[in-house]
Amino acid sequence: MELGRLRTLVLFAITLVIAAPAALASPLISVTVDATGTQQKLLRAHEVIPVKPGPLTLYYPKWIPGAHGPDGPITSLTGLKFEADGKTIPWQRDLLDVYTFHLEIPAGVTHLDARYDFIEPDGFSATEKLLDLDWSEVVLYPAGSPSQQLAYEAKLVMPEGWKFGTSLPVEKQSGNQVSFKPISLEMLVDSPVITGQYFRSIDITPAGEPIHHELDMVADSEVALNMSAENQKEMVNLVAESSKLFGARHYRDYHFLLTLSDHVAHFGLEHHESNDSRMPERALLLPSSGMSLGGLLAHEFVHSWNGKFRRPADLATPDFETPMETDLLWAYEGLTDYLGPMLAARSGLWTQEQYHEYLASIAAALGPGRPGRTWRPLLDTAIAEPGQGYGRGGWLNWRRGTDYYDEGDLLWLEVATIIHRESHGQKSIDDFCQAFHGGPNNGAEVKTYTFEELVSALNAIAPFDWAGFFHTRLNSTSADAPTGGIENGGWKVVMNSEPMKLQGRNGDPGDIYSIGLKVGSDGTVTDAIVGSPAFEAGVSSGMKVMGVNGRVYSHELLEDAIKAAKDSSQPVTLLVLSDDYFRTCTINYHGGDKFPHLLREADKPDYLDELIKPRAARN
Ligand SMILES: [Zn+2]
Repeated sequence: MELGRLRTLVLFAITLVIAAPAALASPLISVTVDATGTQQKLLRAHEVIPVKPGPLTLYYPKWIPGAHGPDGPITSLTGLKFEADGKTIPWQRDLLDVYTFHLEIPAGVTHLDARYDFIEPDGFSATEKLLDLDWSEVVLYPAGSPSQQLAYEAKLVMPEGWKFGTSLPVEKQSGNQVSFKPISLEMLVDSPVITGQYFRSIDITPAGEPIHHELDMVADSEVALNMSAENQKEMVNLVAESSKLFGARHYRDYHFLLTLSDHVAHFGLEHHESNDSRMPERALLLPSSGMSLGGLLAHEFVHSWNGKFRRPADLATPDFETPMETDLLWAYEGLTDYLGPMLAARSGLWTQEQYHEYLASIAAALGPGRPGRTWRPLLDTAIAEPGQGYGRGGWLNWRRGTDYYDEGDLLWLEVATIIHRESHGQKSIDDFCQAFHGGPNNGAEVKTYTFEELVSALNAIAPFDWAGFFHTRLNSTSADAPTGGIENGGWKVVMNSEPMKLQGRNGDPGDIYSIGLKVGSDGTVTDAIVGSPAFEAGVSSGMKVMGVNGRVYSHELLEDAIKAAKDSSQPVTLLVLSDDYFRTCTINYHGGDKFPHLLREADKPDYLDELIKPRAARN
């Protein structure tokens, strides 16, 4: 779709929007969440809403910022009852929208009591020992006012002895009850709370930095909170490096909220003044802890500037009911996905080699690993996010998924190298970030932008045909990954038999790029690359590999067979289970292992590594 045409639809939104209202005009809505039933996976909420007689429409949040789709967990909203002056008020759900409730408020009534429960979805936010509370899951709000103008007074009752972390300012605390200061609905939903039996808070404010930064952690065990002194230092470096990159902050203070559990969903969600990041219980105890922290926390931290403060105009909606348009996610997520790893490398969470291997892995995943790029352009992966997202049921290589992350990373690396080239080394991506994401710190604030404004901001740093560049990259159906940034940076992507040093990233790349198969440890085929030797031999997503060359399948056996076939005319033979039928697939592949790596091109200056050198003084 033509980008220019889309922009005209959202012109109304191109204004400066202040997320934290100067004065909360509306009467306070109070919400109390009783989380003492966390272990039973049930939260009980009581909301008191000032009302006037007549029709009233209430919404349950549907489009949650950062989730990029209409997927508020409405099926978990239960036990819904309304009362006023001791009498039950009936409700009816909207015929066209399951998130909307209609009521008729009787004469004389000034306050409505809403009581409802939230069933914690299995394996998502609550365990025996902790809770990640997103207020969007436990609030109802009246239609008719922007969420930044609705004022809420929130109270949380935690299980006995649990501690908590949040960026919400506290009004008062007594025992296991905490009341927060009145705040807009927009900022309440933007300020999750983590609470748990095992809690640790670490001050990660760099020396001389005026704004407080802390890392708040909850876990399923005490030992899981043992972040190494080295990782703590690197987190301080990350905060210091963000100051050098952006030259400004747009928050009062900042909380990294980290949950360590094998019984929550593993993802991160960005907020203005915090991020809600969730990793496996023992993530901090592994040798890969820096890689994990740098991969997730740096990305979510960057979002405070790119995504929360600077936001595509059509993603900045007035409430949680208005649909978002997601065509600029390649900037919202793509630029974040480039800057996060860059900061992770600058702060020492990632080594130079890990950064190289990471770039090689995404370049390979998008080139030979993603033939879907020949029919579906990058722009469409962003536009179709609310309906398609990650896709289900395998076939990622042919459907494509959320490629605006990884491909966005390569795209913005290329932008960084073009700024350097076109300005003859006078300007860098840091200059762009300081101009685009800088300005005074007014606390949490939203400054929207359009495609044209993004292009003119780049032009102000380094004049170039940025619009043409983006149109080409966004609409391309070339099979080749956009590796221009790597090449401009003095490196190239190569495939060879040396195994990758990034364990676990994108499955087992050797299998993918040799026979074209992504296969789990139990033999389940999660992806068979369309056109690859394995696919041509009849293997596809969802089948299960039961045997390799006449023996019961193991991953090692498959690796051995691929290596052995290199020096032989014998094919690799797989016994595959498809539904409840066996099938033998004969793979005529003799190319040996193939793993992606970056290789230095000696005749070009090494700008790639220049970009990841530390900028800030070490504490
Ligand atoms: Zn993101």
